[in-house]
Amino acid sequence: MKLSKRLSSLPPYLFVEINRKIAQKRAAGEEVISFAIGDPDMPTPSPVIESLCQASQETQNHRYPETSGLPELRQAITRWYSERFGVKLDSENEVVPLIGSKEGIGHIAFCLIDAEDVALVPDPAYPVYAIGTTLAGGKPYYMPLLEKNQFLPDFDSIPDDIVKKARVMWLNYPNNPTGATAGLDFFNRAVDFAIQNDIIICHDNPYSEVYFSNNRPHSLLEANRAKEISIEFHSLSKTYNMTGWRIGMAVGNSELVKALTTLKSNLDSGIPQAIQKAAITALQSSPETIKTTMEVYKKRRDLICEVLSDIGLEVTPPEGGLYIWAKVPQGYTSVEFTSSLLDQCSVAVTPGTGYGKYGEGYVRFSLTIHDALLIKGLSRLGSWKDDKHPFKTKLR
Ligand SMILES: *Cc1c(COP(=O)(O)O)cnc(C)c1O
Repeated sequence: MKLSKRLSSLPPYLFVEINRKIAQKRAAGEEVISFAIGDPDMPTPSPVIESLCQASQETQNHRYPETSGLPELRQAITRWYSERFGVKLDSENEVVPLIGSKEGIGHIAFCLIDAEDVALVPDPAYPVYAIGTTLAGGKPYYMPLLEKNQFLPDFDSIPDDIVKKARVMWLNYPNNPTGATAGLDFFNRAVDFAIQNDIIICHDNPYSEVYFSNNRPHSLLEANRAKEISIEFHSLSKTYNMTGWRIGMAVGNSELVKALTTLKSNLDSGIPQAIQKAAITALQSSPETIKTTMEVYKKRRDLICEVLSDIGLEVTPPEGGLYIWAKVPQGYTSVEFTSSLLDQCSVAVTPGTGYGKYGEGYVRFSLTIHDALLIKGLSRLGSWKDDKHPFKTKLR
């Protein structure tokens, strides 16, 4: 059997060794506590589930849905964007629902990228931006996200010939995995850069509602002229604990929305309508609906940061998103430190290098771990000993 070259162009799975260790421990009956999974542990709000149940009883929802989604869903998305960000959208031409935002993020590459075209992709990042690019035959150019630049890309450092070949730039704030947020000033600079160089911006914004300060995260579409060259991906997954239902949306420039809708209409047949109805209920719910969830995440963030600095790790509590991006202790690589936590504490985290080479020196802790397990995991982490520097005194 011969499979496509395209398939073999997918990056190899990096952490075979670590996963083997986890599997071994579990097989031996040991409990491994995982801070590695970014998937909300709390339930979908019950009014949303009630809508889903009710809609699933209605015969008209048993048939093929339209790729472009129910008009009521597109209108609910439009209203939500207007109320939340003050961004006005035309529900006919500037909105397309997705089968989870990952689906749209992967597929849009096929609307934008021809062979050898370049996509500007942040590093570290959610892997799908680069994978979509590669599958479509393009080449990612990695923009390092460095702590000294607040984990924002530095447009001036991108070589001119790359800028010329670049068709698209991916951004994601609040950021996975670094936890960084971006101000409107940065989004304005990004849009200026993109307009000047005829580059499309794809902004991935699933964490806009997961934030812990008074600075509410922005939509890229709030930036001046953003709609001329950009599309934003959003999702109900993280905001409403709906990862299991698979629903998200892309909004913005009508030509881009149309391109993605056309592509999708040739590949999928839309989102089950009962799920669309549930999404409408979620989007129309009061902001109070998600308040408790966000308070729980904030408490977890504070608890984790405290323990990590107790054992000598450098951490900046993130203002948004579901992750803590912690610097590994001196002398360790990301993978070595991950292994050490697993060996000593039976705690799993994600090595930063899973998100790109600039993730070296970091590990990611997710906040989506149930409180009881979190407490147990943290107490184990608290006893971690730096094998490489057994005599180092803690400077606290
Ligand atoms: C979770 C996540 C998504 C995907 O969410 P869907 O469930 O596919 O809507 C997209 N981007 C980032 C950065 C994420 O962390």
